Amino acid sequence: MLTLGCHLSSADGFAAMGQTAVNIGANTFAYFTRNPRGGSVKDLDPEDVAGLRDVMDEHGFGTLVAHAPYTLNMASAKPYVREFALKAMQEDLARLEWMPPAHYNFHPGSHVGQGIDEGIGLIAEGLNAVIVPGQRTRVLLETMSGKGSEVGGTFEQIARIIDGVDHDEVLGVCLDTCHVSDAGYDIVNDLDGVLDEFDHVIGLDRLLALHVNDSKNPCGSHKDRHERIGEGTLGLGTFTSIVNEPRLQGLPMILETPNDLAGYTAEIAMLRGMADNEGE
Ligand code: FE
Ligand code: FE
Ligand code: ZN
Repeated sequence: MLTLGCHLSSADGFAAMGQTAVNIGANTFAYFTRNPRGGSVKDLDPEDVAGLRDVMDEHGFGTLVAHAPYTLNMASAKPYVREFALKAMQEDLARLEWMPPAHYNFHPGSHVGQGIDEGIGLIAEGLNAVIVPGQRTRVLLETMSGKGSEVGGTFEQIARIIDGVDHDEVLGVCLDTCHVSDAGYDIVNDLDGVLDEFDHVIGLDRLLALHVNDSKNPCGSHKDRHERIGEGTLGLGTFTSIVNEPRLQGLPMILETPNDLAGYTAEIAMLRGMADNEGE
């Protein structure tokens, strides 16, 4: 059975997200740990967290994927921007230790003209500052489309960040299908070859989650505009391959497509229908 879900709003709390996930046929979900601006968060409500735990146990959920605000930038040239990113990530990670199992994924950052080497160095430095040895939550670097001065648009850049981190056993990777295609990896015609390359450069044991999105733009466009499954340049065939790919089995697969809940319900049902071993 696929571990499949979508990004949900956390406005009504954790237990409500769990129930919404069940209602739409999901057995995992993603959510922003705080609003996209990266502002402060409410205190955790133990009852709400326990409610989510109950829903997850009852319905056999897989690992959740908590998403850091995408505005955080550990690679910024401005020290206060970097400090804010580190503080927010430290707080998020401390909270996640009290939550049901969840990975924490983040966008590596943008070097904003300082150059890729400086960007990679700052991100590794930041991760060394926020990781607590022995922490349970895995921190996932998201593969990016390489737009603007984004770091993480190639597997090599991700591998170099991981190389610079002392407690790299905490790290993993979240592969976003729209982003890797926009970055120039041809998963339409050669998913196998792209996974081989990922294995060679990063190691498939690092791959801990997928963002499942079609793309509005062609391979190598460096754009990052998500499209509904089957309506973009990746197409249904690519997603049929993905949900049946042995090397991707068991990973949480998260939809971040432009949809309302009805749209997500339909996409989840469609993807489950395309998977050969669904229901087993
Ligand atoms: Fe993301
Ligand atoms: Fe993503
Ligand atoms: Zn994106």
